Amino acid sequence: MATIAENLQAVHQRIARAAAAANRAPESVKLLAVSKTFGADAVLAAWKAGQHAFGENFVQEGVAKIAELPLPGIEWHFIGPVQSNKTRPIAEHFAWVHSIEREKVAQRLNDARPPQLPPLNVLIQVNVSGEASKSGLAPGAERDLAGFIRGLPRLRLRGLMAIPEPTQDKALQRGRFALLRRLLLPLQAEDAAVDTLSMGMSDDLESAIAEGSTLVRVGTAIFGKRQAVNGER
Ligand SMILES: *Cc1c(COP(=O)(O)O)cnc(C)c1O
Repeated sequence: MATIAENLQAVHQRIARAAAAANRAPESVKLLAVSKTFGADAVLAAWKAGQHAFGENFVQEGVAKIAELPLPGIEWHFIGPVQSNKTRPIAEHFAWVHSIEREKVAQRLNDARPPQLPPLNVLIQVNVSGEASKSGLAPGAERDLAGFIRGLPRLRLRGLMAIPEPTQDKALQRGRFALLRRLLLPLQAEDAAVDTLSMGMSDDLESAIAEGSTLVRVGTAIFGKRQAVNGER
């Protein structure tokens, strides 16, 4: 079985090839290692191999790993659904949240962000797969939420995130990622801090990079197959 370091190297090669095919610099795509369900030992192995940004979906699990791993330069992203009663630990322990879809959650994260920390970087999650998916705002609805977030001093709007329904159809993958890219344009025009398109996972990162992804969230291809978690397909 390949080691985490070898898997990371292979993922970096996939990113570099996809970026080259799109005439993009490989450094324009950031790699987020999704460590949900894996232990602190796995995160430490990835960190030793040079990986600094990690994504977690569950508050308790993420906060426990963060406490266990006070490593220099490590950066934690919350990428799971945010319940409004869990906003405080997220605001206190994470640097980024990818999955904002409600004003109430944005307001609560803003209010709970400790004053000694920099503003929390946030992304609005958009549903680019239509009726097939329940997570994320309908395309177009992100505009109002972006305006609301801009009024919150302890949050910094950085862009958009999507988790399209899995499909092997490359044209369909590309179409959904292209939609998210188009939705980012007006937000970027209004706000110079907006620079992030969080899209692409283990199975579709090439399509996402072809459509302008600046951050791919990769779990399985780095850490291996996960045990099924509640609510996951
Ligand atoms: C689990 C997860 C990932 C990683 O998925 P893989 O297919 O294992 O790469 C990416 N993004 C989100 C939001 C996830 O929940």
